[in-house]
Amino acid sequence: MVYNKNQIIEVTIEDIGVDGEGIGHIDGYTFFIKDAIIGDTVSAKVMKASKNFAYARLEKVISPSPFRVTPKCDIARSCGGCQIQALSYEKQLEYKQNKVRNNLKRIGGFDEKLLDWVTDKIVGMDEPWNYRNKAVYPIGYNKDGKLIAGFYAGRTHSIIAGSDCFIGDPGNKKILDIILAHMEKYHITAYNEETGEGEVRHVLLRKGFTSGEWMVSLILNQRLDKKADAYRTKSNREESLSGASDSSWITQKDFIKEQGELLGKLSEIKGMTSVSVNINNEKTNVILGKETYCIWGKPYIKDSIGVRDMTKPGYPKTGRSLEFHISPQSFYQVNPVQTEKLYSLALEYAGLTGKEAVWDLYCGIGTISLFLAGNAGQIYGVEVIDKAIEDARNNAKRNGISNAKFFVGKAEEVLPQFYNTTSPLVNASANTEKKSGKADMRNPDVIVVDPPRKGCDEECLRTMVAMAPERIVYVSCDSATLARDLKYLCSNGYNLRKVRPVDMFPHTVHVECCVALQKANG
Ligand code: SAH
Repeated sequence: MVYNKNQIIEVTIEDIGVDGEGIGHIDGYTFFIKDAIIGDTVSAKVMKASKNFAYARLEKVISPSPFRVTPKCDIARSCGGCQIQALSYEKQLEYKQNKVRNNLKRIGGFDEKLLDWVTDKIVGMDEPWNYRNKAVYPIGYNKDGKLIAGFYAGRTHSIIAGSDCFIGDPGNKKILDIILAHMEKYHITAYNEETGEGEVRHVLLRKGFTSGEWMVSLILNQRLDKKADAYRTKSNREESLSGASDSSWITQKDFIKEQGELLGKLSEIKGMTSVSVNINNEKTNVILGKETYCIWGKPYIKDSIGVRDMTKPGYPKTGRSLEFHISPQSFYQVNPVQTEKLYSLALEYAGLTGKEAVWDLYCGIGTISLFLAGNAGQIYGVEVIDKAIEDARNNAKRNGISNAKFFVGKAEEVLPQFYNTTSPLVNASANTEKKSGKADMRNPDVIVVDPPRKGCDEECLRTMVAMAPERIVYVSCDSATLARDLKYLCSNGYNLRKVRPVDMFPHTVHVECCVALQKANG
């Protein structure tokens, strides 16, 4: 059957697509329908049709899914943040469990019986709301020219007003209101992506859930004269528009003075710890620029992550916990409640007894490395962002951990360097480790990886296999690339031992997963 544009079809939704859209089939032909959820029977208008599939727009829910719930959030349909708020939380978890399973089966080629055997039930949240410790709000204008903070509409860059997000912290709104009122009062403009003009691009808010500390970072489109340590502010921009020269740069100190009123108000918020500006003058989608300057308080906030016993019901805390300093630019997991569970699973799967040599690849600010360090002989962390490694080293010191070493670089380059190289520098480092009776860098007992969505580079996987650790723990935020990488590892001497999805991002289509692999015949 050929479908034409504007044709109305009726279909029952059976699955969810990568962007949260409902998927239904008629005689093998596939329809993608936004805002339709599993179990709905809907009528929809065909918008774009090709040979085997079409995109259609939801017209009417003819018979609602038994799993349909009223979204908590008024703008759930238009906002790009959550995609599946209209699906009951129970069903969301089931969908995520199946998503991981299907990818491992389809892309990884794993046998269904094996998957049933090794897979544990997804770790959900008891209270799947207000879980995010970080929010980045774009600043702009609504149709009437009113200044707003909000969210990008799905797959676009138009801003929908809304500072009250149910997956974020309830304290975000108060802070944004203060910033918007200040901007209005002093006619500070919002950035316009199309023209590249305007001053305030985004506001980044972060809260340490255990410490109660707040961080505010204003991402500004301002020029910064490094030598003079000076900002270009609204007042001198106006001068330069009227022909005045660049002599009107102001110093950082004066800039802070100008923002004194704002800082005064922000400092009254309970827990306010760090206010910074980040300079981003690039015409790009990338949110943060390279330079960050703390203008009030400390350049970081604190948070701590505790260890939990994942083998017991309710996952009780064991009492051990680590403290981290987080700076505005560092990657830090956004769901602190689930992070404890995820890391505790990684710890359990690593099977440490206190002697092991462990590589932690894609280590960020060293959270997993330091989490494992107390149970291992020696930990080696690798991360491509040097600022994150700086944080990792400081975090190790702060927690009194001396058996963790960190290396800046790509995992696919650093690991082979240590494994293959004849470089005296690397050899010296590897030999010292051996002489000191500590673990062997070239033949580690365990390798943990936690790559970004694109998964591991093949060179990294090849070296991991060559190093032949007893166990590999794979922490993944994309089950498709996870499945691809597991296929490689399991075709090269490893067996799948444990798979457990963790719901780090309720109401979105994303799912995290922790996997344990064991060396065959090991
Ligand atoms: N394990 C950390 C970070 C995980 S996010 C945590 O739980 O907090 C993935 C990290 O991999 C990011 O910090 C990113 O900067 C880093 N990264 C991305 N590509 C990399 C590569 N090729 N080699 C090493 N690190 C990389």
